Amino acid sequence: MKAVRIHQFGGPEVLTYEDVPDPQPRKDEVLVRVRACSLNHLDVWVRKGLPGVKLPHILGSDVAGEIVDVGEYVAAFQTGAFKTGQRVLLAPMHFCGHCAKCLAGLQNECREFTVLGNAVDGGNCELIAVPAANVVPIPDSLDFNQAASVPLVFVTAWHMLVTRAAIRPGQTVLVLGASSGVGIAAIQIAKLFQCRVITTAGDETKLEKARALGADFGINHYQQKISDEVRKITSKAGVDIVVEHVGAATWDESVKSLKSSGTLVTCGATTGPEVKIDLRHLFARQLSLLGSYMGTMADLHEVLGHVFAGRLKPVLDRTFPLKDLRAAHEYLEKSRMFGKVVVNP
Ligand SMILES: [Zn+2]
Repeated sequence: MKAVRIHQFGGPEVLTYEDVPDPQPRKDEVLVRVRACSLNHLDVWVRKGLPGVKLPHILGSDVAGEIVDVGEYVAAFQTGAFKTGQRVLLAPMHFCGHCAKCLAGLQNECREFTVLGNAVDGGNCELIAVPAANVVPIPDSLDFNQAASVPLVFVTAWHMLVTRAAIRPGQTVLVLGASSGVGIAAIQIAKLFQCRVITTAGDETKLEKARALGADFGINHYQQKISDEVRKITSKAGVDIVVEHVGAATWDESVKSLKSSGTLVTCGATTGPEVKIDLRHLFARQLSLLGSYMGTMADLHEVLGHVFAGRLKPVLDRTFPLKDLRAAHEYLEKSRMFGKVVVNP
């Protein structure tokens, strides 16, 4: 098959479109023909070099496609639930499936947990073999590009807001980075809970698109000070929840934007991982600072239910052919997009 692999870590130039052997699925796996694979910032981190990545390596976490073949054990136990030609998306997680954490439904705490395309080969290729548990049929209402735009960012935002921060109707939520995949998902999930949403972006066009998704207030983070604007919007109260993934560049403003006993939940550090925290603010204002990593299979199935029913919508920015993955990475790193960048084999 054709795939884009990296043989060394580095810039977009290390992405190489080439022939590789077809994957040989195990008896408990399903073989899927990749029709669309969306990019995430994780692709850039892996390309630049992360521990645990074995070379050569295939990137790509978010896959939608069609079933080509179903392993003998899958066919035996699923009693025909999976058929050749069925349209599916793939859960972007890799886990052992039999440890105490996995059996408790806490797959993202499994010692073997990793993201598809991180420590295991991903979907920037024509064929991929994954365990049956990762395969989710999709409705006709979603095309492959839309379906590939869903899994990683929606499961991440759901786990952050619902499972970790325990969002409640009527709260005020600050979502950093409206144009990012996690931002787009978090805005919509917070609105699903009838919350008031404040979001940030770098230009008016992006803020307008965020308002179209339901955001009630937009802050231009290049021209306005986030915490000052939050104080104005909330009549000095601050917000109940901050959805963070930007990191060093926004951390101080995010913490300042919280109300007393507010919760900051973070899943990333795009602008850098080192931040300061004033312990006096943490204890006197009784703040909660929560980490969040991807999500569980239960989170994924729950959020997909809302996506499949049309209550949450994937946002596609543009597509590239798989052979032009370098250009797609360059485009992603310029941060010009609003929504997901998808490659098609
Ligand atoms: Zn496990």
